[in-house]
Amino acid sequence: TYSYEELYEKNAKYLWNPFTQMKEYLADQPVIIERGEGRKLIDVQGREYWDGVSSVWLNVHGHRVPELDEAIREQLDKIAHSTLLGMANVPAVLLAEKLVQIAPPGLSKVFFSDSGAEAVEIALKIAFQYWRNLGRPEKDSFLTMKEAYHGDTVGAVSVGAIDMFHKMYAPLLFPSIKVPFPTLYRHPYELADEKQVVQRYLAEMEAVMAAQAHRIAALIVEPVQGAGGMIPMPKGYLKALRELCNQYDILLIVDEVATGFGRTGKMFACEHDGVTPDVMSVAKGITGGYLPIAATLATDRIYDAFYADYEEFKTLYHGHSYTGNQLGCAVALANLELFESRHLVEHVTKSADHLADQLNSLRELKHVGDIRQKGFMIGIELVADRTTKQAYPFAKRMGVKVARRCRELGMLLRPLGDVVVFMPPLASTIEELDSMVKILYQAIAEVTLDDER
Ligand code: PLP
Repeated sequence: TYSYEELYEKNAKYLWNPFTQMKEYLADQPVIIERGEGRKLIDVQGREYWDGVSSVWLNVHGHRVPELDEAIREQLDKIAHSTLLGMANVPAVLLAEKLVQIAPPGLSKVFFSDSGAEAVEIALKIAFQYWRNLGRPEKDSFLTMKEAYHGDTVGAVSVGAIDMFHKMYAPLLFPSIKVPFPTLYRHPYELADEKQVVQRYLAEMEAVMAAQAHRIAALIVEPVQGAGGMIPMPKGYLKALRELCNQYDILLIVDEVATGFGRTGKMFACEHDGVTPDVMSVAKGITGGYLPIAATLATDRIYDAFYADYEEFKTLYHGHSYTGNQLGCAVALANLELFESRHLVEHVTKSADHLADQLNSLRELKHVGDIRQKGFMIGIELVADRTTKQAYPFAKRMGVKVARRCRELGMLLRPLGDVVVFMPPLASTIEELDSMVKILYQAIAEVTLDDER
């Protein structure tokens, strides 16, 4: 075993962490995790922390789940991996069937991959090629939302729109058409009525579609804008988008990477509006947070456009060395069984009301500007002034400060600017949720008060 100091030194010397400014990270005495147990992470010094963001939004049941551990062991006794290129494997076939059974009705085919970003890349390639296969190559552009996040690979970045993550790479990207996401807390219209605000957003979307449908392959959306600040679409909005896409002959891609697998209180967030997209990307919670599996689902209409004699070159040219990995598919299957046997989606729906009550207590704190919640997907936006919604200056790093304080109090979080993200594991009990919210309250109270001094 190694001491913290030794591991820290090796981290500094050899490891370049993702989405991390290494200078700041190394100055901050980073946590080095050794173990997990239920909803907790335990570091090499034996300190315990609540896993307050489900290890970046994907842990479902907690850590060291006996059923999931066993599923991997069982699969390991047969085989760890073989390719899906030109052949199949048992857990991949069974997982594809299971996904179709639980997906919004009409999604009938599953294409596997290894990460959310890749599941999005595949969705984009499918939508782009769909129109070519149909002899309509002029439909080659994508509509996307401002502040969208769909992953960090070049195609996914091209349909993303968060300046901090994306602007730097602009010269590398293909252009996409960006339309405002319906945000109710901050919107540009001088209207008090929420319904009217939503109508204005929709009208903007329709105007773009009406003018440019001839060259648009697909619209890609997150049902809850995640990295953009945890902003749920207003009820009915996705349905309205589905109808507009039908009207203008534009494919609808729904990115359920963050929202899928119970996170919002339905198995998939599309279900809140009874929508079936043409293409849907999923990842994160699919394996319960165990192994890197992702999937892109499509309808028969899409799949049929690729089903042809080889000479016609309608093949989807995508697939990686580890696509459809057996260990990953086996643990995903076991995870989805646990969803059923433990009635996990119902648990999220039921506990979400209690959680909302608890989170309400944060409104006592005058720098809490907005609390946005959809199931167990929560963003708490801190503001310098609640009346004017004035943001804190970036340099104050309020979100980072709150996360640091939470860490001292025993919970690990990762903020998005001044939005404190709270994404507890779905299986968290009421008592566990209460303990986590208590830490949130104390950290936000102390950090914002400290700032005023
Ligand atoms: N799409 C959405 C909506 C996401 O929130 C994320 C990750 O946070 C991704 C795609 C990318 O997923 P991954 O990190 O697995 O590549």
